[in-house]
Amino acid sequence: MKKHRGTILLLLVLCGIVALVVVGLWKIQGDNPLVVVIRHHPKGIMDTETNLTAVVDIDRRREGEVAVKDAEQALRDVEALMSRYIDRSEVSLFNAAAAGQVVPLSPDVIEVLLAGKKLHEKTDGAFDITIRPLIDLWKKAARENKLPDEDAILAAREESNWSQLDVFNDGAMKRVDTVSIDLGGIAKGYGIDQAVAAMQEDGCRGGLVDVGGDIRCFGLSPRGDAWQIDVRDPFGRDEPIAKLRLTDAAVCTSGNYQRFSKIGDKHYSHIIDPRTGWPVDIAPSVTVIAPTATEADGWATALSVLAHDGLRLIPPGSGIEAMLVIGTPEKYTIHKTPGFDRYVLK
Ligand code: AMP
Ligand code: MG
Repeated sequence: MKKHRGTILLLLVLCGIVALVVVGLWKIQGDNPLVVVIRHHPKGIMDTETNLTAVVDIDRRREGEVAVKDAEQALRDVEALMSRYIDRSEVSLFNAAAAGQVVPLSPDVIEVLLAGKKLHEKTDGAFDITIRPLIDLWKKAARENKLPDEDAILAAREESNWSQLDVFNDGAMKRVDTVSIDLGGIAKGYGIDQAVAAMQEDGCRGGLVDVGGDIRCFGLSPRGDAWQIDVRDPFGRDEPIAKLRLTDAAVCTSGNYQRFSKIGDKHYSHIIDPRTGWPVDIAPSVTVIAPTATEADGWATALSVLAHDGLRLIPPGSGIEAMLVIGTPEKYTIHKTPGFDRYVLK
């Protein structure tokens, strides 16, 4: 009996030492030593930088490595289907098609078209994937360094809109030849959602997909708690404009500071107000938190058009929160939905 007691005591002491070492390591490294973190930075996706992070149990490194590769592939697949810069993408083929015939489209493209349509309805038309002719007109204006005239703006607006486009279960049909779509305001978010789904299917305990600063995270961060995400200052200052703590959520930012073109000495946003046909210029940055990156991406673009008037259109209970920076570096105001600060690190 005495001998047993000695063994039990020894075991307890050993367990204690192991626990102390584990906790100690955790404290020193700041990371959870029971998981491994796989990071992957594939190049050449959606014309921006991609950062993929997978968190897996310590004995499942291989699964983590497969997961980040699968996430990369999911992003590349979405780009191949939806990019307007790829001639053979389904979006390009649809834009080149004639009216009156159903163009077959894959389920992913149909899903994004329908998400775009829903958002168009919810945002009083501010989000509009059918404004491609206007986008092309402003691109040409930037190339020629000459503002388009009002007639051309009006014509481009009339060439393509939702009343001339039908979406079916397996394809879409134009009613006039000139209908043309652009998924640039939402497809990146959809790609991020697909990448997250791939990582979850591969058994990751946590993960983060960051494509050019648009992000979705799930599960545990490498530290074993929420993910910390910085929102870049729209005026280029080093200090982030907000530091967020997120779990199982997406955050996307639309900003004039990131992508714009120059005509004369003025900068013009790449986001067009479908109501006026002119580039937007009120909000230097709009950040949206949402359950999915598709929603966050789409709403960030829509609120860039609507500015603070659009905050009231966010459906209650949707889990969507937004922060808008309005004004100039010298004089700006910040507008937020009431729940946004729940995610802000104090
Ligand atoms: P984002 O950076 O997500 O705000 O998306 C901007 C892109 O969305 C632009 O480069 C266009 O391709 C597209 N876009 C521009 N204006 C709109 C709009 N009003 N509704 C939907 N997409 C738009
Ligand atoms: Mg967007």
